[in-house]
Amino acid sequence: MPELDLSKKVADRYLKREVLGEGTYGVVYKAIDTETGQTVAIKKIRLGKQKEGVNFTALREIKVLKELKYSHIIELIDAFPHKENLHLVFEFMETDLEAVIRDRNIFLSPGDIKSYLQMTLKGLAFCHKKWVLHRDMKPNNLLIGSNGQLKLADFGLARIFGSPDRRFTHQVFARWYRAPELLFGTKQYGSGVDVWGAACIFAELLLRRPFLQGSSDIDQLGKIFAALGTPSPSQWPDMVYLPDYVEYQYVPTPPLRSLFPIASDDALDLLSKMFTYDPKVRISAQQALEHRYFTSAPLPTEPDKLPRPAPKREPKASDFDSHEGPTVLSPPRKSRRVIPGRDGFEGNSVQRDKVDDNVGNSRQTAGDTTGKNDPAPMSLDFSVFGLKPPNRPTINSADRSHLKRKLDLDF
Ligand code: ADP
Repeated sequence: MPELDLSKKVADRYLKREVLGEGTYGVVYKAIDTETGQTVAIKKIRLGKQKEGVNFTALREIKVLKELKYSHIIELIDAFPHKENLHLVFEFMETDLEAVIRDRNIFLSPGDIKSYLQMTLKGLAFCHKKWVLHRDMKPNNLLIGSNGQLKLADFGLARIFGSPDRRFTHQVFARWYRAPELLFGTKQYGSGVDVWGAACIFAELLLRRPFLQGSSDIDQLGKIFAALGTPSPSQWPDMVYLPDYVEYQYVPTPPLRSLFPIASDDALDLLSKMFTYDPKVRISAQQALEHRYFTSAPLPTEPDKLPRPAPKREPKASDFDSHEGPTVLSPPRKSRRVIPGRDGFEGNSVQRDKVDDNVGNSRQTAGDTTGKNDPAPMSLDFSVFGLKPPNRPTINSADRSHLKRKLDLDF
């Protein structure tokens, strides 16, 4: 089967519904898997024009992610190229930890915080055991399912598709979760970077606001040192050899208790071990799970008893009529379809489209094109953001038959 037919066949399996959000690498849609009836989230990652192609490293690493199956890792159900995009199909999740932390109607008990942290560390420990790093730990990458289970999302994507910060300004928030060795420009880092990120999330759960909110990498280090003390060379001997090392004014280590007045002693002990400067000495995710914090009272709350925000409402067409938001390419009317008898999937019958069914039609906003019952925009062309994927080794167009073969095998 020609490559285009093959990818269309895979794409046709998914009925696209509304846009869930726009992330670092592209737009995320809700969709229905017509083979299983399962609701999924499809992340559409722009790969570029034919001559740039799909790169093998990305495909190989995505295959690794597909094989990472664990209760605290979001499942990558499928991955397929279609048009100029790579589509990653994930299990659908109801909310994320950022929404929980921000929701002022939610009270987080010490047992709740313990439970969310434990699930985060379980996900990390599993992946670190498989030699996969996350590299982009932040509360909105910790997704929460309808049963309260927390799962790590976007695992490894930073490594596959490039570091988000350098490419997208809206991603600067990830800086707040970045380990000091990364901020000092280390080229060699390990699972400690994820543990530091998890420590920032732990602190955020306790404070209900981001702990270290730097406005630049330099400022981020300044904020870290102001809060946790400036590391001495004896505390972190390799620090002075790091590529971007600069000396900071000495600040003595304040007691953590002064920053987290209501946390338990066990919580603070674990937090300080996760916030250890020298990555070689920093506690690992697995060791953190074995810390007495998790066995001392109160025990972690059962996931299905955890407080969660109300599920996100269904978007209205007007949500997409924003001048600040992306321009929406409307599909040709003929490609829209009403699918009778599919109501069982998700409530009311609405017009739905298959993934990426639009081609070369006029550019409008969704508000112009959709009727009251229409689902969200049918397709967003990521190129309207003026973003390009990073330069990386690619398969040139002459080699695309390899890609098809590879995709046949792997996906
Ligand atoms: P980022 O790159 O900023 O971490 P993502 O690309 O992961 O963002 O996601 C963008 C949006 O899509 C998020 O706001 C999130 O709510 C939503 N989203 C991502 N993955 C899923 C999923 N598996 N289920 C439900 N919603 C998701």
